[in-house]
Amino acid sequence: MSGGFLRGAHASHVLISASRRNRLLLPRECMIGEGIQSTNQRKHSYVHDHVEVGFFTDPSVCIGCKACEVACKEWNEVPDDGFTWSGNSYDNTGHLGASTWRHVMFLEQDRAKGNQITALMGLPNPQSTIRDPQSDDPFRWVFLSDVCKHCEEAGCLEACPTGSIVRTEVGSVLVQNDVCNGCGYCVVSCPFGVIDRRPEPLHDAGGAFKCTFCYDRQKSGLVPACAKVCPTESIVFGRLDDLRARGAERVQQLQQSGYTDAQLYDPTETSVRGIHAFFLILGEPEAYGLPPKPQVPTIYLKSAWTSAIVTAIASGIVVLLVFAFFS
Ligand code: SF4
Ligand code: SF4
Ligand code: SF4
Repeated sequence: MSGGFLRGAHASHVLISASRRNRLLLPRECMIGEGIQSTNQRKHSYVHDHVEVGFFTDPSVCIGCKACEVACKEWNEVPDDGFTWSGNSYDNTGHLGASTWRHVMFLEQDRAKGNQITALMGLPNPQSTIRDPQSDDPFRWVFLSDVCKHCEEAGCLEACPTGSIVRTEVGSVLVQNDVCNGCGYCVVSCPFGVIDRRPEPLHDAGGAFKCTFCYDRQKSGLVPACAKVCPTESIVFGRLDDLRARGAERVQQLQQSGYTDAQLYDPTETSVRGIHAFFLILGEPEAYGLPPKPQVPTIYLKSAWTSAIVTAIASGIVVLLVFAFFS
């Protein structure tokens, strides 16, 4: 068997049972994802080589462990945002925010997952021989690890008056905390509601916070912490063009397996012009809190200014007419 972990001297000296051997020498197709071959586990030089990178997130293999959320907090030393129990879901972090740069949403839907055979959720009446087809109760639980989308045209970056938000060599969008003055213009300009201010700013940092795409790690050739720890490779980090091809292939694979509502969420047709952290979704984007047609707010500036100028001219004409009438 090729591709195993025991080779050379070790392989010839270690006598192991066939069943144990099968457990140790896993062929690649038996592993979840690509294991040590994955781009999540390899060092890279994308920052040095100016290669556009991204995240492809696939909820069809996410197990909702939230290891990505924890790794993000640990690496970036992001403070907790309270340990409140929502009472609505096992998801206690709720949404992305100034202190939650990764958020694994738990989505409960009354739909079947792929070719899942749904059954009666309640016990049938033991006295009755009639089965009520209406009582079949499809249910699916989807987990999606959400993050800053690192937009191709980023509303936050366009709105920032201090130049604190910049585009990096790998195409990600980075807030420089020592330049940010906490004005909050970026907060209202993000079409995804990602970037946010802390209720109480930190003593040594501006005010607006979001995922950094682990730029500090990437500069040293390391993979972002959230992708590195994901045990199922639901989050995959790598070259953006490779990921887009991988995403398209995965959608096709899932559709052939009965997930007819699988699609990619990557709004390339809007003024956002695509995102570096794109998702595979099951069903409609709205269910995940993703706008179906996100737009960069500045595209509305032209019509807003035109309306303002027309209104000003019309008001001037009315005032002149009033003066002319009474004089
Ligand atoms: S998702 Fe929002 S915060 Fe992230 S890059 Fe786009 S506009 Fe900026
Ligand atoms: S890339 Fe880094 S900062 Fe962004 S969510 Fe992942 S761990 Fe957090
Ligand atoms: S994305 Fe990966 S690490 Fe995050 S919850 Fe899902 S399986 Fe766990």
